[in-house]
Amino acid sequence: MDFRLTAEQTEIQKMVRDFTNNEIVPAQEKMDETHEFPYELWEKWSGLGMSGMLLPEKYGGSALDTLSYILALEEVSRVSNTFALIWQVHILVSNIYLKFAHDELKSKYLPIYAKGEKLGAFGLTEPGAGSDAAGIKTKAVKSGNVWSINGTKTFISNAGTSISDGLVLMAVTGQKENGKNEITSFSIPQGVDGFELGQSWNKMAWHGMTNNELVFDDCRIPSENIIGEIGSGLRIALSGLNLGRIAFGAISTGLIQGCLDHSLAYAKEREQFGKPISNYQLIQAKLADMATNCEVARRMTLYAAFLESSGEECQNEAAMTKLFCTNVATQASLDAFQIHGGYGFMQEYTVNRFFREAKMLEIGEGTNEIMKLFIAKRLGC
Ligand SMILES: Cc1cc2nc3c(=O)[nH]c(=O)nc-3n(C[C@H](O)[C@H](O)[C@H](O)COP(=O)(O)OP(=O)(O)OC[C@H]3O[C@@H](n4cnc5c(N)ncnc54)[C@H](O)[C@@H]3O)c2cc1C
Repeated sequence: MDFRLTAEQTEIQKMVRDFTNNEIVPAQEKMDETHEFPYELWEKWSGLGMSGMLLPEKYGGSALDTLSYILALEEVSRVSNTFALIWQVHILVSNIYLKFAHDELKSKYLPIYAKGEKLGAFGLTEPGAGSDAAGIKTKAVKSGNVWSINGTKTFISNAGTSISDGLVLMAVTGQKENGKNEITSFSIPQGVDGFELGQSWNKMAWHGMTNNELVFDDCRIPSENIIGEIGSGLRIALSGLNLGRIAFGAISTGLIQGCLDHSLAYAKEREQFGKPISNYQLIQAKLADMATNCEVARRMTLYAAFLESSGEECQNEAAMTKLFCTNVATQASLDAFQIHGGYGFMQEYTVNRFFREAKMLEIGEGTNEIMKLFIAKRLGC
């Protein structure tokens, strides 16, 4: 297999690396301080065509390939998981509109998503339904051509900014013959009556990304806002899973690379017992593990991205990538903390943020327990 990147992919990787160093590093510091959404950074990023990176040119997108997206995600995540995740959710939502929405909804949202004037969000999780996505309780009841939506979503990323719009909402619209929920996707305009932002969560990391409860109280949405068909909601939700899981592989790889860069520099500089601590084999072992896991995570992610972009079946590879990469990212963040000793405990040190960020990667985009169940099922269990 040829893993060499094309000239265009290398160019994009370099462009993103430069942007990351010049723009995302200072913006990340500000996000940590203020916990505010990075509007200026998002505008600059969008100006490079990155908010519409995967969208076709006819909607104002850059029409770039999946592998370039994955490479760019890794570069951004080396410095900021937060910004990478804001972008990843926006791309996921843009893809849902592109694949499933009817032409009118596409024309309404895709051009403004491509320009980054509006930000996408995806509302599935509820206080009583996380891993068990089919168990959601938010209900949409039809009367004439209008649906009345009632219920509460929680943790939803990107829905709480001044540019959020077109939330993709999953709601129960009936019962199937087998007694399971029939779930349908709705496009929810920001500011519509009956839709309000609820609690804004106080997170241990990912400051700058908004995560809110969303409250629907007799929110009236016309049938024209249905994405796909009635009852196709879960299929739509699951359609982005492969790319989402591979994206988490790239975000994890970036985080491990960040841990390695900071830990190596620190270990060479920090002296104890008259020598840099990088001279000690127990420190070297941690650095060697980090470097090896980073390389394996990167290759696994690129391979899964290659399968996904070739249109090949890759559910298993995507699940394994998500499981492995997020596990080794957590380990790398622990080792980076340890190498920094007491300084790793201090928020002034970047590895402290990596430590706080890494754990959530094991939970988002399907928890690692759910990944294991999925992989085991494929083994015939
Ligand atoms: C910062 C953040 C951002 C998020 N953004 C979004 C978003 O934009 N949109 C959205 O819809 N959701 C979002 N989520 C929700 C996220 O997808 C869920 O947290 C995740 O799916 C897990 O659900 P849960 O937290 O309810 O945990 P639960 O499902 O309650 O799981 C609790 C524990 O039980 C385990 N478990 C559950 N079922 C099984 C089983 N069958 N066998 C073995 N173990 C099991 C889980 O692995 C986990 O360890 C976000 C969450 C956070 C914290």
